[in-house]
Formats: sequence, structure tokens, C-alpha cells
Amino acid sequence: MKFYILFGPPGAGKGTQASAMVEKYNLRHLSTGELLRKEIAEGTELGKKAKSLIDAGSLVPDEVVEGMIDNAFKSTKDVAGFLLDGFPRTIAQAEALDKMLAAGGEEVTAVVSIMIPDGMIKERIRHRASIEGRADDAKEETINNRIKTYHEKTEPLVDFYKKSGKYVEIDGTGTIEEVRSAIFNAM
Ligand code: ADP
Repeated sequence: MKFYILFGPPGAGKGTQASAMVEKYNLRHLSTGELLRKEIAEGTELGKKAKSLIDAGSLVPDEVVEGMIDNAFKSTKDVAGFLLDGFPRTIAQAEALDKMLAAGGEEVTAVVSIMIPDGMIKERIRHRASIEGRADDAKEETINNRIKTYHEKTEPLVDFYKKSGKYVEIDGTGTIEEVRSAIFNAM
């Protein structure tokens, strides 16, 4: 099985690129952000707890997202692999992922990292806010905190994965088509 990680700051275009990748390689797209928004929409206990953290631009606890990913791995059949989008977001989550995969004799295949500068993050999120209406895209303070959280908690994963030799960086500043073909070349 293939286990691709789609990495990058908020607004880098992970969700946009994910659909082409899953179609071409017969992967299941697992976006922890989308799974959490579904829990919120359904009003579950997990969703209620996650909402205030997401609206503040903070991360939800590692165990929560690790549980969601583990469930999805166990309940998915008939795919060539998975595309993890928005997970892992902390070193602890990356270590938990390695353990989950090792238990089944598997490992991370590659990390595709879409990079854009901080200035562009805000521009992209502002644009997305006008289309998707996500609550966490609406407030300047929330966006700033997500960028801060990304640099503090998530960016250390770049070195973590560079050490494993599985890290490929893609320039995310081009058009959707340019970024897509760079990703396909890398994969
Ligand atoms: P974006 O990439 O635009 O930040 P996501 O949809 O990936 O958006 O995530 C939205 C929010 O969901 C995050 O800001 C965070 O609060 C929460 N979240 C998503 N994935 C994780 C994760 N792996 N660990 C902790 N929190 C997460």
C-alpha cells in the first residue's frame, strides 16, 4: 500500500491538488480538517470539543486525529493507498503514524510538500473564504494563529521527513496546473 503525505501551510492548495492525486493513483483522500468539519456539522461530542479549538486557530489534541486516521485505515478497502492531507501536523502525530503503519508492516511512501510564502497564505485564505465560507477562514486573528501554529508545531516535520529521505518539495506559488504537474513528476 502507498501512504503519501500531502504537506504544507494552510492555504497552500493541499485540498485542491488532492483530488487529482487520488484519482490518478486510486488513493483514499484522508483530510483531518474535513473529517473534523464533518463531526462539527453532525454535532457529535468530538465535533463540539474540536470546534472551539479550530475556531481559535489551534490544533485539536493529537489523540483525537490519530484515532480518526487509525479508524479510516482499518475501515477502508479496495484502494491502492492513502493520501494524508493535514496529518501529521506535529512530531508526536508523525511518530504515532509511523507506529500505526509499522504494526501492519507498512511505511510512509513519500511526503509531497507544497510550499508558499506567508504573504500568500493570507491571500489564498481570503480568496477561499469568499467561496467556501469556512468559519476558521473568516477572522484575521484565527488565520494569524493558524500561521503561527504551523511554524511552531508543524514546520519541524520538514526536518523530520528530510532525514528519512522521503521529502519532496514543490513550489506552490504557480497556477493549479503547474503545481499539479510538478506533483505528478515528483510522485
Ligand atoms: P488548513 O490546511 O487550511 O489549515 P485543515 O482543513 O487542514 O485546514 O484544518 C483545519 C483545522 O482543523 C486546523 O486549523 C486544526 O485546528 C484542525 N486540524 C486539522 N488537522 C489536524 C491535525 N492533524 N492535528 C490537529 N488539528 C488538526
